[in-house]
Amino acid sequence: MDIVIVGGGIVGTAIAARLGETEHDVALVERSGIGTETTAASAGILMETVIDPTPFDLRFRERARSVYDDLFERSPLESTRVGVLYVAETATFADRLEESAATLSDRGLEASYLPADELSRLGVDPDGFVGGLYTPNDALCDPTAVANWFADCARQTGVEVRTEAAVTDIVLSEGAVSSVETDTGRLDADCVINATGPWAPAVNELVDVSLPLRQTLGPMVALESDDPIESPVTILESKRYVRPTGGADGTGAWVGEYRTGYDDGQRYDPDEAAVPDGFADSARALATVVPALEDASVADEWVGLRTVTPDGRPIVGETNVDGFVVACGMTGQGITLAPAVADVVYGVLEEDLAGESRDRLSPDRF
Ligand SMILES: Cc1cc2nc3c(=O)[nH]c(=O)nc-3n(C[C@H](O)[C@H](O)[C@H](O)COP(=O)(O)OP(=O)(O)OC[C@H]3O[C@@H](n4cnc5c(N)ncnc54)[C@H](O)[C@@H]3O)c2cc1C
Repeated sequence: MDIVIVGGGIVGTAIAARLGETEHDVALVERSGIGTETTAASAGILMETVIDPTPFDLRFRERARSVYDDLFERSPLESTRVGVLYVAETATFADRLEESAATLSDRGLEASYLPADELSRLGVDPDGFVGGLYTPNDALCDPTAVANWFADCARQTGVEVRTEAAVTDIVLSEGAVSSVETDTGRLDADCVINATGPWAPAVNELVDVSLPLRQTLGPMVALESDDPIESPVTILESKRYVRPTGGADGTGAWVGEYRTGYDDGQRYDPDEAAVPDGFADSARALATVVPALEDASVADEWVGLRTVTPDGRPIVGETNVDGFVVACGMTGQGITLAPAVADVVYGVLEEDLAGESRDRLSPDRF
């Protein structure tokens, strides 16, 4: 089978690395560079934490995690264990965090619920908080480096990785995918995999596929501080978060907004997304949650889009167009989940997909 993967972010490259192990002829087409879009804009947190986790969500993450464990063991890439602390500003959310801690612990993951007066030992000012869910094993990685590693693995197994080439059309023959037009030429294709992150709705439209995908704006500012930040990634119930920069001297942090609700989403043009006016100032004010950032100054800012779905899970599988497969709607977890998503795409193509993954992830579940 001739397979064309559209998109060279972490999802497309993870899929390319996975499919490179098969007998299929695989090409990946990326309009800019590998891992330079949403993947580069992300906070790079490999998250063990899940709020209200189901057994499926935990198993799905474990699949991804085992690929990452192997990757960090056999590649020169590094991950830094910093942990994640979710903090509740209301009693209702605190209850959910406490229950989530219990579910995660039952599953064998290190997780604990901390009442407010214990938050200061993690470098967080407890004022205004009810309590927190702390998972110490979440790690930071460099997602662009990971995407390039996946792309290199793919190349080594014979996958053609084309950068600076944009897919402009997908040609159907008798209702099935037959080729892909790019601005550098045509490629035969029995199967096209749409892994274009926030551009996925536009690529779906090329073949008249409509899926419930919206986007939320993910602005981020980088703060410079004199003091080292000893707190974990700290995510507030009110959707802002502080992520230690993770550099050798331990100073500095990124402050971002973490909106993943479908109701918060809308359709943006990914090429036009911009940091909202005033975000940097409001982010600086929020950084006082972590006292070490009190006198921090803004060094940089950027924005990315999260592509969100109604149930918060990715959409992965074949659509109603024969040969047109989607791997999109990561709902703010694409770095964490990419290897597991790649595994599902492999299962779809090899007709070896567990019923559970089909039911939870397939495009026709809505
Ligand atoms: C601010 C922010 C912070 C985040 N933090 C985290 C985090 O800490 N942990 C986590 O797990 N997730 C995080 N996420 C989510 C994560 O970044 C995404 O889920 C993930 O990067 C999506 O990867 P992707 O490969 O699907 O998309 P992308 O990285 O956007 O890749 C899609 C690629 O498709 C290409 N493309 C588009 N159209 C075409 C075309 N027509 N032809 C060819 N190529 C095309 C684009 O150029 C792009 O490179 C964050 C997201 C944001 C916005």
